[in-house]
Amino acid sequence: MCGIVGCILNKEVAPTIIDSIKKLEYRGYDSVGIATVTDKINVKKGSGKIKEVDDEIHLEDIDGKIGIAHVRWATHGNPTKENAHPHCSCDNKISVVHNGIIENYKELRLELQQEGHTFKSETDTEIIPHLIEKYMNEGNDLLKSTQLTINRLIGSYALAVICTEEPDKIIGARKESPLIVGVSDHGNFLASDVPAILNETRNVIYLEDNEIIQLEKDNVIIMDKDLNPIEKEIVEIDWDPEMAEKGGFDHFMLKEIYEEPQVIKDTLSESSKIKEIVSKFKNFNRICFVACGTSYHASLIGEYLIETQLHIPTEVILASEFEYFQNTLDDHTLVIFITQSGETADTINALKVAKQVSETLAIVNVVGSSVTREAHHVIYTRAGPEIGVAATKTYISQLICIYLLVAHLSENEELIERLYTIPELTEESIEREEDIKIIAKKYKTAKDFFYIGSGFNYPTALEGALKLKEITYIHAEGYPAGELKHGPLALIEDGIPVVGLLPPGPSYSKTFNNLQEIRARGAHMIILGSEEDTKIDDVHDKIVFNQIVDELIAPLIYIIDLQLLSYHISVEKDIDPDKPKNLAKSVTVV
Ligand code: GLU
Repeated sequence: MCGIVGCILNKEVAPTIIDSIKKLEYRGYDSVGIATVTDKINVKKGSGKIKEVDDEIHLEDIDGKIGIAHVRWATHGNPTKENAHPHCSCDNKISVVHNGIIENYKELRLELQQEGHTFKSETDTEIIPHLIEKYMNEGNDLLKSTQLTINRLIGSYALAVICTEEPDKIIGARKESPLIVGVSDHGNFLASDVPAILNETRNVIYLEDNEIIQLEKDNVIIMDKDLNPIEKEIVEIDWDPEMAEKGGFDHFMLKEIYEEPQVIKDTLSESSKIKEIVSKFKNFNRICFVACGTSYHASLIGEYLIETQLHIPTEVILASEFEYFQNTLDDHTLVIFITQSGETADTINALKVAKQVSETLAIVNVVGSSVTREAHHVIYTRAGPEIGVAATKTYISQLICIYLLVAHLSENEELIERLYTIPELTEESIEREEDIKIIAKKYKTAKDFFYIGSGFNYPTALEGALKLKEITYIHAEGYPAGELKHGPLALIEDGIPVVGLLPPGPSYSKTFNNLQEIRARGAHMIILGSEEDTKIDDVHDKIVFNQIVDELIAPLIYIIDLQLLSYHISVEKDIDPDKPKNLAKSVTVV
């Protein structure tokens, strides 16, 4: 995830394009670059935030009335100057900015290298200008060459391309990464998101997957994948700039929850890389996860999965408690560190110790972060930058990595296939938002909440409770279903809301029976379960899922409904869910 901008004006483009790209810095911020076309391609780029790079190399100091720009959130290759976009062809006549992930870039890079192309970066993106160059050298124009190029790409992309041979246009294309067109009488624009162009125009065309765009100063042509022109509606945007940054959502947290189906797809694209990493592991007979907070809950699901699917002894250690457990690590232990930011101080300290004796793997969202430099192996979650302090989309992407890891370790093709059905199932959770809002209204004054689940769904109970604590300040606890009667049942009283996680599967009866015991003490039952389960017909509130969502995959879906529930209770209580009190996004202190 990152931001791209393309801009054609009847005056020098640099000031406008830099102003636009700054509005997208929330989407990515590890490096920045700009390219314009005059009689040649002019490029300025650097690693760091826009302001830092600008202070050093004066991005505005570049001629041209047509330009493209990029603010990067690295996925392939560290955030260095060489890896910053735009990327150019060998003959330097073509320049490209790209948002997304090209899954088959290795094969294409090899093919192009064999044909004599040389590469300057480690990115997946760089194959794009070289492919376009190849097709132009075969006699195609820029538009046709871009079409032929995207036909070869597997993965996601939003692109903007400029070329010295056709210096009056920008070609754009999108698939599974956002891209919009802005139109005005003083120029036309391409951008990843609306805030980038609001200073220039409020007239926007939303592009769909597989559409291709030719942008000229006085003309915009939108085409389908076969280059047939299509009519598109121009929408007038009436958002204020703050709303625009949140994509029209009231809060980043809600926007990020809505991004989860796409994040799952992006993270699934790491499958072959995870398979490759798994093949490199040395022999191990024990696995330890080390993590904090939400990543700790993702790790617990990993523990349940590995113990049940692989029968390998596994434990989960809180990073802040690691020193008490470090003495039993050995060279037959695989230690897995999970951290969203890759900068969590407790986790880094534990990793530095563990890597002295054990093989280490990090599951991280931020490319080039400290943890990625310390661990032996790294798997990236493809969630993009997360701005809401309470983790939502990064949690789901950690879970997808863990499920893929377990599926590859156990060579379980059926599980891998099931994972590809998850994005669609999560769409259904998101469509339920209005129903969840009604439940949220009902329980907004609750003082305590309990979340109950068994097996794979016990950690979901913990994570559901944590989300509620973080953003509503309501006291909440998660318990395994069978544990209530060993103490906490004493706290159950009339009207107390209890969220029961009741997917179909072997643990159903145990969870159901324990929930009955809780209900008998007067609790208000909010049950998440199968739509075909008639035994939950008479509970106080229910959120139902397709019958195929069994206990094995329920952790990947139920949590979205629980995130929405916490979000709406927070909004009902007039709390800003993006900035919960006392909490920080990246915990860099011990
Ligand atoms: N995959 C590309 C890269 O790592 C683009 C990442 C992005 O969307 O910022 O450079």
